[in-house]
Amino acid sequence: MLVVMKNDATEAQVQAVIKEIENMGYRGVPMPGVQRTAVCIIGNQGAVDDSGLLVMDGVKETIRVTKPYKLVSRETQPQPTVIAIGDIKIGGGKPVIMAGPCAIESEEQALTIARIVKKSGAQVFRGGAFKPRTSPYSFQGLGEEGLKILDKVRRETGLLIVTEATDHTNIEVVEQYADIIQIGARNMQNYSLLRRAGHASKPVLLKRSFAATIEELLMSAEYISSEGNSQVMLCERGIRTFSDNTRNTLDLSAIPSIKEASHLPIIVDPSHAAGRRDYVIPLSKGAIAVGADGLLVEVHHDPPHALSDGMQSLYPEQFGELMEEIKSLVP
Ligand code: PEP
Ligand code: MN
Repeated sequence: MLVVMKNDATEAQVQAVIKEIENMGYRGVPMPGVQRTAVCIIGNQGAVDDSGLLVMDGVKETIRVTKPYKLVSRETQPQPTVIAIGDIKIGGGKPVIMAGPCAIESEEQALTIARIVKKSGAQVFRGGAFKPRTSPYSFQGLGEEGLKILDKVRRETGLLIVTEATDHTNIEVVEQYADIIQIGARNMQNYSLLRRAGHASKPVLLKRSFAATIEELLMSAEYISSEGNSQVMLCERGIRTFSDNTRNTLDLSAIPSIKEASHLPIIVDPSHAAGRRDYVIPLSKGAIAVGADGLLVEVHHDPPHALSDGMQSLYPEQFGELMEEIKSLVP
């Protein structure tokens, strides 16, 4: 339930409503809006008796939120969430481009690719230091050494850093080095990791599992938000279907569906969806055209020798081409 405050409600009245909600055994989360503040009630199992709240000073009305996710729902917050990191605004109307290798392999590799993507106009550098690999025998990432390289990339290029935390043992160190903490598709329903990300001081990029519905993705985002971190962006990276022409099937219809259901920004990762580099440019254009708030793209200066996901990594000139091609689609 949403307790909508009057336009001229005071901070003390909002706090009194939150206190009353706590007395009722729930939690009240203030959601400041352009016109007025609403307080979202979370933690209730069934219907809430709003009679005591409706008579309080400053309360305009109550609205029942019909969706199982509350804080991330469009019903709760009609205006889009804009995540501002420095000068970059994610969800602010202009797509944000995040690009880089699948994994950080060495300082030279990371800096080479970072300079390339920066020159073509990327704002965020991607690259995993902790890699969730299907095979335990595959390259698992450089760990903290990789994070230190990412720190150097940020200092040398000014690019923001998005990198993955794969479990509760590394999220703390990832939080120290990253500007955006990535939670991968395989971890979308790792609820203890989601809860820990809810206490992080950095925004979170939450990737949709290849087997998750949109409602499940939004419930996972709700885990993070309900712990206090409302800076969550979602990522569509392809789902498993019977189509076997690509590694996964990019669900572009997820973008308008998510926009309808939630106020959170949504990023598209065409690389893990396609699994092949020749489809990355057309899928990126499709993603921007349907309203994605950004792209997460794998780029490598030497894809045949990449330690992971070389097949789907763009060559530098292809990334330049992608940036040119999407220009006409960006308002
Ligand atoms: C990645 O972005 O490198 C990655 C592992 O992606 P996903 O979790 O979508 O498979
Ligand atoms: Mn990858």
